[in-house]
Amino acid sequence: MVQPAPRPLTGAPPAARAAGGLRSLYDLGPTDLARLAAEAGEPPYRARQLARQLDRRKTADPGAMTDLPGRFRAFLGERLAGAGLRPERHQVGDDGWTHKFLFGLEGGDSVESVLMFYPPGGAPGDWDGGRQGRATLCISTQAGCAMGCTFCATGQFGFTRNLSTGEVVEQVARVWALLEELRPAPAAPGHLTNVVFMGMGEPFANPGATWGAAWRLHDGFGLSARAITISTVGLVPGIRRAAREPLPVNLAVSVHAATDDLRDRMVPLNHTWPIAELVAAVREYVAATRRRVSFEYALIRGLNDGADQADSLGRLLAPLRVPGSGGHAAHVNLIPYNPTPGLGLQTPSRSAVHRFRDTVASHGLPVSVRANRGVGIDAACGQLRTVAGRPGRGAGLLLGTRAGEEVAR
Ligand code: SAH
Ligand code: SF4
Repeated sequence: MVQPAPRPLTGAPPAARAAGGLRSLYDLGPTDLARLAAEAGEPPYRARQLARQLDRRKTADPGAMTDLPGRFRAFLGERLAGAGLRPERHQVGDDGWTHKFLFGLEGGDSVESVLMFYPPGGAPGDWDGGRQGRATLCISTQAGCAMGCTFCATGQFGFTRNLSTGEVVEQVARVWALLEELRPAPAAPGHLTNVVFMGMGEPFANPGATWGAAWRLHDGFGLSARAITISTVGLVPGIRRAAREPLPVNLAVSVHAATDDLRDRMVPLNHTWPIAELVAAVREYVAATRRRVSFEYALIRGLNDGADQADSLGRLLAPLRVPGSGGHAAHVNLIPYNPTPGLGLQTPSRSAVHRFRDTVASHGLPVSVRANRGVGIDAACGQLRTVAGRPGRGAGLLLGTRAGEEVAR
């Protein structure tokens, strides 16, 4: 694995706080853009040009919008100074197939986004052939996360603030604009094919920005709804809203355990929305949308990787069916745990993962195993944790060990 030193990203960093507290140019809608053009004494079509720069060309810095007249660019630069993400760091892993970006936010916090390229034939080391021919960006919706899942680095570092819609969208714009340059091989896609809301934060705890961003990515950036996936830890009101939302994005539910006693220990939200209520909400979602749902399961050695949990998971999810077709509505996505230093949790052996997969599959459910991408640059699932703060409870509690101890099997 090649890991060149982090290098700064190009792009003018906004220096000061934006006038009016604007966090991102992507927080501006058509009416705001029209007002800006009018204020600058420009004809109305300049607002449409500006929208094209933002959404079609993914240009987040006014100074780089070269088809706008210099005086308008200068006006925008001055008027919007301080708004926007500050590209602070870029790390490369998996021989150039994985990239992690650190973006500074107004107020001093920061968030991370992870770009994963998948070649047409599957990436080396990918289980199950990988997701072929894709460029997937994993984006954050919050600085930190208030859900406090005991195995998750982001959750252990606490919550700072919600991102605005524009701050969510701007992660996509800034990475998209670099994609041609970052392609690790000619076979890798030169544009983003997928966006997943699986970075820092719980998307449904920030529903306005999450749905606002999903719509903008669809309407403005031209991504199809099926190329967008929102992952939730199981906020039932959020799942209900997803069932009503007319944008047919993919839904992923982080389940991680098939029994309440275990899930209570891993996902504190389970005390509020236990498994039966979560599954009932998903059943309603499937009935309303006729779409399949992906269930994420981070497999942790000695904690939730046993045959009993695999069997219970199969029994829990196999009855979920798509009305009409009768096919399985649940797809299980196993994520071999990415160890977080200090939490004392480990990834299961490859054979344990296969055993778990086979037991779930014996219930007729489709199951896949997600490749561990970006591990060497701490960019794998659940490893994002840039927010200043202090670690919370140690997950060693889960296994009856002290944080940092080896877990014996
Ligand atoms: N808050 C949302 C989305 C972000 S987390 C959610 O929880 O669904 C994205 C996925 O990574 C979730 O399924 C999460 O449980 C999982 N995850 C967290 N920490 C992990 C780790 N260390 N190893 C593997 N997966 C992890
Ligand atoms: Fe938040 Fe998701 Fe991590 Fe839980 S797993 S703490 S919901 S980011």
